Amino acid sequence: MGLRKRRYDNGAEKTPQNVRSGPSPDADWAVELRSVQRRYGRGTSAVHALRGIDLTLPRGTYTAVMGPSGSGKSTFLQCAAGLDHPTSGTVRLGGTEITGMSENKLTALRRERLGFVFQAFNLLPSLTVEQNVVLPMRLAGHRPDRHRAAEVLAQVGLDGLARRRPGQLSGGQQQRVAIARALVTRPDVVFADEPTGALDTRTATEVLALLRQAVDDLGATVVMVTHDPTAAAWADRVLFLADGSIVDHLDRAPAEQIAARMTALTAPATTVRAAA
Ligand code: ADP
Repeated sequence: MGLRKRRYDNGAEKTPQNVRSGPSPDADWAVELRSVQRRYGRGTSAVHALRGIDLTLPRGTYTAVMGPSGSGKSTFLQCAAGLDHPTSGTVRLGGTEITGMSENKLTALRRERLGFVFQAFNLLPSLTVEQNVVLPMRLAGHRPDRHRAAEVLAQVGLDGLARRRPGQLSGGQQQRVAIARALVTRPDVVFADEPTGALDTRTATEVLALLRQAVDDLGATVVMVTHDPTAAAWADRVLFLADGSIVDHLDRAPAEQIAARMTALTAPATTVRAAA
């Protein structure tokens, strides 16, 4: 499996200078954030939601983002996906710098080159499964490709259900449709925001296995915000955010280790010192 080849640590060691000096500078990175800051408000009441994030995620990797409430996870996802604008710093997706892009161009880029999976599935109830899956193509102004829809529905284990409506499916099946929709354009990155938050444990496991499979078998790149260590354990790397900074990471770690790291992050400083 390609996993062994796709190493984050190469990225961490590359400086912005030598990233730029190669023949095809950013081809390796699905996501590249440089000194990304996001501040809400000004002066003494300013909230520093992101305090300078530097991050490169290789294609074909699965990254989980964890952190206490208010640590900046949503802001990170929004800035990385071009849904919010950093106060400073740059974001590149699939080698394209999105910082400063017009809203129209950003919208087009999101539709063609990004996939999104949300906790609440966000399917359109009046459309069939197939129509939901081809929606990104239609929104991007392309003719819906029914063969591609059938292919991606088969990949998520839903062949035969193309004509159903979301209301006729279980929660797990609806999230599979959402994943099929996220994958249909073969995007540079799939951003998932608590994708298992509304599912029972067994169904959540199926959905997480499916995202894993999309990375391993289809070469997808997944960035997933989650508060659940069991979900994060499916990722290649878990990033830990605290107070707007990436303070730690774990690679291929079991849920227990991830949970312990989260506990250390959320525990009051005195408790951490006492435990040390
Ligand atoms: P998380 O997703 O980890 O809970 P957020 O990214 O939602 O964290 O928030 C990070 C910080 O930014 C928090 O202190 C939050 O209150 C603040 N914040 C988020 N959005 C806004 C906003 N629109 N206006 C002001 N402050 C905000």
